[in-house]
Amino acid sequence: MIEYLDTIENLEQQIAEQEKDCTELDQQIDEKKAILEKEREELQIRLAELDNRAEGISDGIDSELVRIYNVIKTKKGSIGIAPVIAAVCQGCHLNIPPQMYNELHRRDSLKICPWCERIIYWKEG
Ligand SMILES: [Zn+2]
Repeated sequence: MIEYLDTIENLEQQIAEQEKDCTELDQQIDEKKAILEKEREELQIRLAELDNRAEGISDGIDSELVRIYNVIKTKKGSIGIAPVIAAVCQGCHLNIPPQMYNELHRRDSLKICPWCERIIYWKEG
């Protein structure tokens, strides 16, 4: 009987320790949650600022170009424009056809990557 009581006490002690561990873990989770929530809020503020800036910038650009950019951006899920460095589109990392690359270098017309369909522009490598 005394042995049983001892076993029960031991088990109760183990349970108490595990409950303490759980409480500590809960606290850690709550702290991490608070940190992440704060980061999320900061990122949302930054995103709003960037959206405002983008609107301000797009006011000064050809509206047809902005329309095309927005269509591509929506289709691609975020990035609608990519530089081409040494004939390689940085959006999809595929080679631009030589003729198109030459035209791109002249910078006199709008070019779309034939592979990922992003707006591309020439950039020195
Ligand atoms: Zn591409």
